[in-house]
Amino acid sequence: MLYQHRFSDDRPCELPNGKIVCVGRNYAEHARELNNPIPKQPLLFIKPSTALAALDQPLAIPRDRGECHHELELALLISQPLSEARAEETLAAIAGYGLALDLTLRELQSQLKEKGQPWERAKAFDGACPVSAFVPAAAIGDWKALRLQLQRNGALQQDGQCRDMLFPIEALLADISQSFTLLPGDIVLTGTPAGVGPLNPGDRLRCELDGLLTVETTVG
Ligand code: ZN
Repeated sequence: MLYQHRFSDDRPCELPNGKIVCVGRNYAEHARELNNPIPKQPLLFIKPSTALAALDQPLAIPRDRGECHHELELALLISQPLSEARAEETLAAIAGYGLALDLTLRELQSQLKEKGQPWERAKAFDGACPVSAFVPAAAIGDWKALRLQLQRNGALQQDGQCRDMLFPIEALLADISQSFTLLPGDIVLTGTPAGVGPLNPGDRLRCELDGLLTVETTVG
């Protein structure tokens, strides 16, 4: 099925499918669980628009390429161009807040990291970025109060508070916009809290953004 951005209130969304800019290690506990140092500057990478998929549809994970991990992340849908932006002007460019999985072929990523090679083969494959509908920004009070949770087969795996981000959203978007222009329809993934782990065919996932969004899905 072709992916298209959606709002959670069924308001039509005309924004095109853009690039996905992701930040690695934006929660200290997650950096520690993978034995990675805490970065001094955001660690950025990009997934192409072909990685987009609807989170409420069965997830297509690659076969025979080693473990595929879930990383539940707060996703920002961009509606205004941001280039060399100041932190205080960034929140106005966000149309909505949603949930995304930064699907990661962890074993392949480790091999690529060892060789000093880019991560794209492990993180940018087709379907590597399932995303939910977006809660319109006007319905979000303070983003720092948001909480993300992922249950796998009924067990809580990830439970993160957005206020624990090492680089808060305003600073993150300003930093990204020094390197890449963000365009309407782009998505920014803000990093995963601790608790990442492998997915298996048949797994049932329940992803929650506080009381704002609940998405149930399965691994196909
Ligand atoms: Zn991630």
